[in-house]
Amino acid sequence: MKFFTVILVVLLTQYNLLAQDFHKLFEKRGEVILKIKVENKSDVQRLSKILSVDKVKDGEVVAYANEKEFFKFLQTGYDYEVVPKKITKVKMAHSVKDALDWDSYPTYETYVQLMYNFESSYPNLCRIYDAGTSVQGRHLLFAVISDNVHQREPEPQFMYTSTMHGDETTGYILMLHLIDYLLSNYRSSSEVRNLVNNMEIWINPLANPDGTYHGGNDNVWNSMRYNANWVDLNRNFPDPEDGPHPDGESYQPETQAMMTLAENNNFVMSANFHGGAEVVNYPWDTWIRRHADDNWWQFVSREYADSTHAHSPSGYMTDLNDGITNGYDWYTIAGGRQDYMNYFRHCRECTIELSSIKTLPEDELLDHWEYNRVSFLHYMKQALYGIQGIVSDSATGRHLAAKITIVGHDHDSSQVYSDTTGRFSRPIYTGTYTVKFEAPNYITKTIEVEVNNFETTWLDVKLVNPNDVADENNLPTEFSLKQNYPNPFNPTTNITYVIANPDVIGVKQSTGNSANTNNATDCHAPLRSARNDAVNVSLKIYDALGREVATLVNEKQTPGEYSVRFNARKLPSGVYFYTLRAENFVQTRKMILMK
Ligand SMILES: [Zn+2]
Repeated sequence: MKFFTVILVVLLTQYNLLAQDFHKLFEKRGEVILKIKVENKSDVQRLSKILSVDKVKDGEVVAYANEKEFFKFLQTGYDYEVVPKKITKVKMAHSVKDALDWDSYPTYETYVQLMYNFESSYPNLCRIYDAGTSVQGRHLLFAVISDNVHQREPEPQFMYTSTMHGDETTGYILMLHLIDYLLSNYRSSSEVRNLVNNMEIWINPLANPDGTYHGGNDNVWNSMRYNANWVDLNRNFPDPEDGPHPDGESYQPETQAMMTLAENNNFVMSANFHGGAEVVNYPWDTWIRRHADDNWWQFVSREYADSTHAHSPSGYMTDLNDGITNGYDWYTIAGGRQDYMNYFRHCRECTIELSSIKTLPEDELLDHWEYNRVSFLHYMKQALYGIQGIVSDSATGRHLAAKITIVGHDHDSSQVYSDTTGRFSRPIYTGTYTVKFEAPNYITKTIEVEVNNFETTWLDVKLVNPNDVADENNLPTEFSLKQNYPNPFNPTTNITYVIANPDVIGVKQSTGNSANTNNATDCHAPLRSARNDAVNVSLKIYDALGREVATLVNEKQTPGEYSVRFNARKLPSGVYFYTLRAENFVQTRKMILMK
């Protein structure tokens, strides 16, 4: 007890001294910048739990702290240095006309005018959405850009958002420039038209206006990282690992507005722009586990960085692995927006650091626009590739909100959902995938697809509701094996079959039209108790002599329609047979391989 008191006294004395000294530090600005020497990665991890780590380079951590965080940090005993905030004045634009030269920073009022000016200049392509207000009542504005922008069309939603750290202002100007570019080039550029016509694009240039205009609405050089409550917004989101409130703070108005917007929409991809480094940082930030689409993340991050390399002097965007990094490999954070969007909203969001200097001199803004312009468009385009389609009710055509899972691939919430328009978008790396579609009260369907990078695999998915369509013939009361398509084929073809719904008593089977000896005979399937009972299913391929040459399916499957791709690349031309066995059902059909 005595020992404990002594320690407490020492700590308190130390704190009192420091508190006096450092109270001054926090008097004018609620945040300080610290430089801390570290030995290894676990130091960084430890510090990241206390401070807002901004950068890790050459055994040195640069971090921000509010007063509470700073006191916590003092107890760790690390050596540190307080870095004075560098204030460099930059040119401000006081009119929309001046702002449109893109070589200055708009005043807050000019920013708001500029946004609404986009809407009034392009009323059919752009509307301004006010997602809410900041702590100090500034607006969190989005430019929504699409053809038929006042309608929710069956198109993927895409989002860019910048400057949630108020002092990282490069992306703020570049996003305003991008809005102008998309609108003013819609008529002349087919590339722009393709994006605007086929997506719903949301651009939020300034996610932390109180931070950026901390020094008043007429300047951005007294900006700060945190919001007006001295909270780092990029540590304020729910975290996949640490759950709600990983920073111990309540959700800030800026965070709440972003979460509400993300819940009410279905963003397929997004990026979150920052500054202080030059790198594309892809998920996850919170844990060492890799994203289910790690290969796709490396591919799109590489594409982004490489496109900047092609349009900039050497040395730009070359931090870490030549301009890309896994988030956790760089430094871990909890409560970041990127992981929130990926884990809780099933979106693909990365963090892009646009410039080593946080608030670029005004005469470098246009250069950085040119470095990144093509990358901005390339990254957006990726939301149109991969597996795309519409899910609807097979009988009524009504669009369905369905869950879409890549079997044996998805984990950590990487599945996606179609929205109320039935539209879904599942960017994924080159490969062959089994895609499962599920909606409440509908029979699950799986489809096998092939995907190539930079290409779209389109699926019109019709799900069967066993109750709605009981009188119609497309209820799978019967097992069936359909004719393969295409046929003849070379070298791949699709085979579709139906596993019957066991709710139906006395399943009558159909016979195929093949001449083979394995034709089905009439029989009755036993009544099974639950709709989700799985049955043993096998689908095998035989050559003309009856020799088995491939097994495409051999597993338990629940009722539904299944489609499997058969690749006969290694087989010679000729007649082949495929046989489906499920419960007591056996059916064989013929197909022709022509090389
Ligand atoms: Zn940042």
